[in-house]
Amino acid sequence: MTFDYDLFVIGGGSGGVRAARVAAQGGAKVALAEDDRYGGTCVIRGCVPKKLMVFASEFPSAIEDAQSYGWTVHAGGFDWPAFQGKLHAELDRLEGVYRTILSSNGVETYDARAKLADAHTIELSTGERKTAKHILVASGGQPVKPDLPGAEHAITSNDIFHLETLPKSILIIGGGYIACEFAGILNGLGLQVTQFYRGAQILRGFDEEARGLVSEEMIQNGINLHLGTNIMEMEPVDGGYRVKGTNGSDNVFEKVMFATGRAPNTRDMGLEEAGVQLGRKGEIVVDEYSQTGVPSIYAIGDVTDRVNLTPVAIREGMAFVETVFNANPTPVDHDLIPTAIFTQPEMGTVGLSEEAAREQEPIEVYATSFKPMQQAFAGRNDRVLMKLIVSQATRKILGCHIVAPGAGEMIQLAGIAVKMGATKEDFDRTCAVHPTMSEELVTMKTPVRTA
Ligand code: NDP
Repeated sequence: MTFDYDLFVIGGGSGGVRAARVAAQGGAKVALAEDDRYGGTCVIRGCVPKKLMVFASEFPSAIEDAQSYGWTVHAGGFDWPAFQGKLHAELDRLEGVYRTILSSNGVETYDARAKLADAHTIELSTGERKTAKHILVASGGQPVKPDLPGAEHAITSNDIFHLETLPKSILIIGGGYIACEFAGILNGLGLQVTQFYRGAQILRGFDEEARGLVSEEMIQNGINLHLGTNIMEMEPVDGGYRVKGTNGSDNVFEKVMFATGRAPNTRDMGLEEAGVQLGRKGEIVVDEYSQTGVPSIYAIGDVTDRVNLTPVAIREGMAFVETVFNANPTPVDHDLIPTAIFTQPEMGTVGLSEEAAREQEPIEVYATSFKPMQQAFAGRNDRVLMKLIVSQATRKILGCHIVAPGAGEMIQLAGIAVKMGATKEDFDRTCAVHPTMSEELVTMKTPVRTA
């Protein structure tokens, strides 16, 4: 049987574009359909605009610190429309780069919504039908709001980059990556930020000591964080929205933002009709090669709800091409993925939390928390944390957790050593870089506890 394409990719985000490009470079005939903007969540409404907003939000405290260092400077107001204009121009540029990557490698693109008609056939919203030997679903995910009275009035992270004006006050619901990152960003930009998180501590699943410090620092920075608290209902009133909380609170906020998780984009895509199995959250169920139960259909990225991070989707896309087009079956390695949460201060982490490691085997914990030189000199009380979890049996570093400005940059490098299987003694025989915060990672001599 002949097909129109060797590969048809649904979704032009980081994972889909990478797989399409690499397959095409290897000689495959490839098409890709995207019904929104090329670049997907990461480029258009996630990592990239978020990080630019993190940078923007850090200037007020940098200017304050500059005064402590002897500079005569004063922060003026923040010009949101000016920043927003530059931000969207940058996103337009990046979208152009994504489109060029595809066209210059011979990938045919369809600006259309695609769904499956059968195991080898794609139906486009233009009415066209295309056949492919292999289909790769990389349709990503989207924010979800809980079902409660008035929730339709709330915004999500998708909307934040498009606000015409910045509100004076905002309530953020959730305690995950997105809620905590935007609490920091918007607080830095001068908004009064209140955050409700239903659990006992934000950033569930991460190392307890690390998330405890992030939460303390967020509160110290002025975020009004309420733990063990959720929203019950909201209604529009003059000047914003009146919100009733489970803690008995009843307040008006100019905006309310839900950061209560994301759901895979699998609805109305003909997946189940084509025989593809979906999980409880609607995610596509795949094996270690990203293959679904239908041999011609694969899926990568957030739509599979494995580890929902851009670099992971990219690696899943590369492993898919290696497996399917290079006859080299390559399982996706989801072990020891370093990650950073761009709170203020940032948290960088790789491997097991102390709590998870303890469940697994006897461990030693090395940790130090201190006021870093740069901020202490400026008169700030900020603290940072450097923490290593070590296996008593193998001496390997099972987890590394950093809470500090620049932790994202630091954990990328520490992640290499941890991935290579470095032991505590390997860290010890590495000479310190002085004076830095991360030198503490190689100078901690005595465990603070064993477990
Ligand atoms: P998360 O799943 O990380 O967090 C969702 C939060 O919302 C949790 O605190 C959860 O609470 C809470 N929640 C869920 N349902 C409700 C509800 N009905 N009422 C109140 N609270 C609720 O999702 P995010 O949206 O923050 O981020 C999605 C994913 O995107 C992340 O997991 C991450 O993989 C990725 N991401 C990565 C970033 C990075 O690399 N820096 C940045 C942003 C996103 P509970 O803990 O109790 O379940």
